[in-house]
Amino acid sequence: MITRFAPSPTGKLHAGHAYSALAAWRFARHFAGRFLLRIEDIDTQRCRPEFTELIETDLHWLGLDWEQPVLRQSEHLHEYQQAAHQLRERGLLYPCFCSRRDIQRELEGAGQSPQHNLPAVYPGTCRRLSESEQQDRIAAGEEYSLRLNLEYALQQLPAGLSWTDRVQGEQLIQPHLLGDVILVRRDIGCSYHLCVTVDDARQQITHIIRGQDLFESTHVHRILQALLGLPVPEYLHHPLITDHRGERLAKRLGSQSLQSVREQGISAAEFLLDADFTFPEF
Ligand code: GLU
Repeated sequence: MITRFAPSPTGKLHAGHAYSALAAWRFARHFAGRFLLRIEDIDTQRCRPEFTELIETDLHWLGLDWEQPVLRQSEHLHEYQQAAHQLRERGLLYPCFCSRRDIQRELEGAGQSPQHNLPAVYPGTCRRLSESEQQDRIAAGEEYSLRLNLEYALQQLPAGLSWTDRVQGEQLIQPHLLGDVILVRRDIGCSYHLCVTVDDARQQITHIIRGQDLFESTHVHRILQALLGLPVPEYLHHPLITDHRGERLAKRLGSQSLQSVREQGISAAEFLLDADFTFPEF
């Protein structure tokens, strides 16, 4: 069994991250499996090397250990681009020239409001462009992202695809929750959904333990696994213990960064006692 913790170094870790990392690490320990750390640092605008360093220091302080070398996604961009290229060659991606504002305008025009807690589903504007319109706009130097052509993808796949959450049971894919997601961002040439799926397969992760906030994304990842011929891990989406700012509610230490807790001379044991985490049953 192989689990992983895959943070993005865009800020400091808080109690919610500690909980998630510990959940995955404990799972690996429990089954005498392996635990990996993966740094998801594709977003060059938001990720900073000092946060990566801090992540490792915080996790060591918590008492976690992991295998070396640590995979840093920024060192593997070429491989994600290869996966994207493969999908594009098969006609599964299309260029999208829309700005955020274009999309919002289109959605408002159609009287659509975003689903609760989920990003708005792309209205498909650029999916309807003809091949020659696409070529002309690309040739004119317009910037574009690449989106999954979901309807076409579903036609290529067997019906009834599913995945399993260890606690919540078998889940039939609900592809339309997130729609034609961006797989290649115009700024960085890849995306979270693509990179996480490629890496979980490359690192042979058998059990993905992560927060409930990524539950809907798993439907997208399952589709990508099917399209790219990748193995399907088992999932465990754990409850979230933080509010939208990443702050633990009602607990003394939980609202601070792990760095700040550490620097007050508080031990990991004291922190964990205060946090009083309840982990899912394995
Ligand atoms: N890198 C993602 C994040 O920090 C998590 C990826 C995952 O666990 O699938 O939110």
